[in-house]
Amino acid sequence: MGIHGCATRLWGCAGHALIGQTCCQGTEILVTSRDRERIAAFTARTDFFERALPIDPVYLDQDDDPNWLVWAFDTDGTRHVLKREPNGDCGFLGHLGCTLPLDVRPLICRLHPYEYTEDGVTGVSSQCPDEVVPPGSTIVEVLGMVPDEAERWRDQIYAELRADHLERGGKP
Ligand code: SF4
Repeated sequence: MGIHGCATRLWGCAGHALIGQTCCQGTEILVTSRDRERIAAFTARTDFFERALPIDPVYLDQDDDPNWLVWAFDTDGTRHVLKREPNGDCGFLGHLGCTLPLDVRPLICRLHPYEYTEDGVTGVSSQCPDEVVPPGSTIVEVLGMVPDEAERWRDQIYAELRADHLERGGKP
């Protein structure tokens, strides 16, 4: 997540970090095999992810998006996620925000705070507090996000998840 601000006050993720836990803290970040390849190529590391069952059951609540559960999770209920520090922070979270360039970040991170299903972007999450958005603006404007780019990343994450599913021997 980026750092966004103005001369007198910090907005967006930086502002959020000042008042509470951000989405880079305490969140289970799913990574596709292509996410893992991109991050490994950038960091020259392969120790940044693990296979894990969801700790938070919210990740299993995908009634409106049935292929997500089938494609993102293996038959034993696990999926690949980024490792976290003992305090819950993402391993790539630095003092100034994410240490990965945008085009290397997990697709999940690039898409946040958009909400989406396999069929398209459905809205914007309400997880970002109002206090981090300047009056008359929206969180996607503060973050400099472009809807067309979000749709492209959404297409990409489902294509990568489906490819992982097929590679595991799943049904087309
Ligand atoms: S990879 Fe970057 S954007 Fe994603 S959770 Fe970690 S620190 Fe945040």
